[in-house]
Amino acid sequence: MLTPVSNAADGFFGQYGGRFVPPQLETPLAEVAEAYQEAIKDPEFIAEYEALLTDYVGRPSPLFKAQRLTDHLGGATIYLKREDLNHTGAHKINHCLGEALLAKRMGKKKLLAETGAGQHGVALATAAALVGLECEVHMGSIDIAKQHPNVVRMKLLGANVVAVDRGGAALADAVDSAFDVFAADYQDTFFAIGSVVGPHPFPTLVRDFQSVVGREAREQMLAKEGRLPDAVVACVGGGSNAMGIFTGFLDDEGVKLYGVEPAGRDLGVVGEHAATMTLGTEGMLHGMRTMVLQDEEGQPAAVHSIASGLDYPGVGPQHVHLRDIGRVEYVHASDDETLEAFKLLCRTEGIIPALESSHALAHAMRMAPEMGSDGVILVNLSGRGDKDIDYVAERLAELGK
Ligand SMILES: *Cc1c(COP(=O)(O)O)cnc(C)c1O
Repeated sequence: MLTPVSNAADGFFGQYGGRFVPPQLETPLAEVAEAYQEAIKDPEFIAEYEALLTDYVGRPSPLFKAQRLTDHLGGATIYLKREDLNHTGAHKINHCLGEALLAKRMGKKKLLAETGAGQHGVALATAAALVGLECEVHMGSIDIAKQHPNVVRMKLLGANVVAVDRGGAALADAVDSAFDVFAADYQDTFFAIGSVVGPHPFPTLVRDFQSVVGREAREQMLAKEGRLPDAVVACVGGGSNAMGIFTGFLDDEGVKLYGVEPAGRDLGVVGEHAATMTLGTEGMLHGMRTMVLQDEEGQPAAVHSIASGLDYPGVGPQHVHLRDIGRVEYVHASDDETLEAFKLLCRTEGIIPALESSHALAHAMRMAPEMGSDGVILVNLSGRGDKDIDYVAERLAELGK
């Protein structure tokens, strides 16, 4: 089930990725890479992971035909891969469980992570409690204020939440802060990064643990429609839910793959969006070579998205490679388009989607009418939107809607 895919050896995807870290982190990360390669060859490790996906996460997640949404848009049939129905409400638990089991296998005592919207922190704190490890989560103070319920959840689950005030006090700064702690205390600590980003082996390891989403969706689609979808659409922050679903379809040449980035309030203004693939330049961020939104001094730029899980100034290196070879197309959706998509799914299907996932929906809604009724679009509904309802209500009130 957990098939490792190519490029695992050196962590490069074309010219992107790799491991660019201070010398003292080289050995600890090489140990993680080696332990991971051994773990995925161990049938006991795989069996334990798969049993938890079934009995704890609730996999396989359903593939749902969104008929009323399809009728409303008048075009291609839209299917939703319901990662929102996983325990903890998003796709992140898939890789957090894998990381927690690997940490335990390596004899570590503590899971350490950054979090943006708090979803990764909650998923990791959950996995830590389940597996019996300590958990320390670094979070920008801006995000702490915006995502209070997730902070409460993490604390209830036994995690230590560390507020990060440096820089823009957001996700990119939380990553730096967590890396510093890891450098100081790697003997007992496992750095559990929250997406397909960071130094090798994280982009590979997180992708592999997420690839269950694509494998399931492909099988479910064949069973339901007797054919593959014409298009697969996923939102891209760091890019883990997208890599998870894309990996299942990479070899299916007829299936178009779309990654949707946040265009925020204004693509023309630095700090008002987080469209890294669209407007970033090649650079180095968090131990990897990738596309980065940078300011004039080469520092990560300020970013904004209505979905705080997407406001990251970098992107997973495999995405850049997939774009370069023409396999995946990267597009964007604005805050306003996202809000419309959010509302429409609530009203037509009785599903409150995460604002992150609503970016993918927004693009599917653009495509569906153009494709005609023979078309089939698969959207990765990466998470549920309960965490977002207060923020959405405020925004809608501001807009007088
Ligand atoms: C964190 C999050 C994302 C963004 O992360 P990726 O690594 O790009 O998948 C998307 N959707 C939801 C629901 C999230 O919680």
